[in-house]
Amino acid sequence: MTGQHDVTGQHDVTRPAEPVTWPGGHQAAATLGFDMDAEAVVLTIDPTTAARLSVMSHQAYGPLTGMPRILALLERRDVRATFFCPGFTAERYPDLLRRVRDAGHEIAHHGYLHEAVTGMTPAQEAAMLDRGLEALEKVTGARPVGYRAPMWETTYATPGLLLDRGFLYDSSLMDSEMPYELAEGAASGARSIVEIPVHWALDDWEQYAYLPDLFGSGLIEDPEKALSMWRADLAAMYDEGCCFTLTNHPFLSGRPARVRALERLVDDMQQRSGLWLTTAGEIAAHVRSLGLAPRVFPQPVHD
Ligand SMILES: [Zn+2]
Repeated sequence: MTGQHDVTGQHDVTRPAEPVTWPGGHQAAATLGFDMDAEAVVLTIDPTTAARLSVMSHQAYGPLTGMPRILALLERRDVRATFFCPGFTAERYPDLLRRVRDAGHEIAHHGYLHEAVTGMTPAQEAAMLDRGLEALEKVTGARPVGYRAPMWETTYATPGLLLDRGFLYDSSLMDSEMPYELAEGAASGARSIVEIPVHWALDDWEQYAYLPDLFGSGLIEDPEKALSMWRADLAAMYDEGCCFTLTNHPFLSGRPARVRALERLVDDMQQRSGLWLTTAGEIAAHVRSLGLAPRVFPQPVHD
């Protein structure tokens, strides 16, 4: 272990994630993630929105109109992506989920009703995980190995709850651009889960989300601006050997001009011969094969 020890010598304090090596001579990695929030994200914010047809239609745009356009883009470019799906979305659009599966993409867990875990007990969080797992398994016939927390909100219990359920990786944390092994608790030698970090700057929500009185800044950005930001990060992260993890939502990025912008980003990716563009699951499996020493992330203690 290269970490520093605390005064008791019982566990390492947090140390930065280290650079990883990529397979096949690649110098960096990238993965496209599509969070299929659909109606679930709004129903969690305000259950009474179930009675608001226009609001529901705004969210249904993702599965109904955005997804076919995104799936066509991925097929044109021969790219496999990861679709993080709430159980509720899977139950409401089962044929779409099976289409995603049959196209060779990865399907991963994204809560049941896109619940934020803030204030949840571990038992409540476990019940949410189990309900989402049950829905995804029933619809797709497969158990997901990946998890992305709704709103990227996790607790210190989350890694252990995921490990208890056989998950290989999580993709919700923000302390690095390198994937790593995250120890379950504060003790080195504990079980660990692969973490594939994310960031708000590599998310279409901050660019495009606008639903009056529910979410969004009120500003809808130009796809050229989103593309420009993501291209700049891609170039810098490629040079540094990072894992570029982009998060898009079909109800946002499935609109025509936004898909065009995304396709230009994919162009940019595919022109970089040293970039490994693949699913989050394949990146996680590679990271697991490296046998990295798990990092501990002790919960801060304060008066
Ligand atoms: Zn989400």
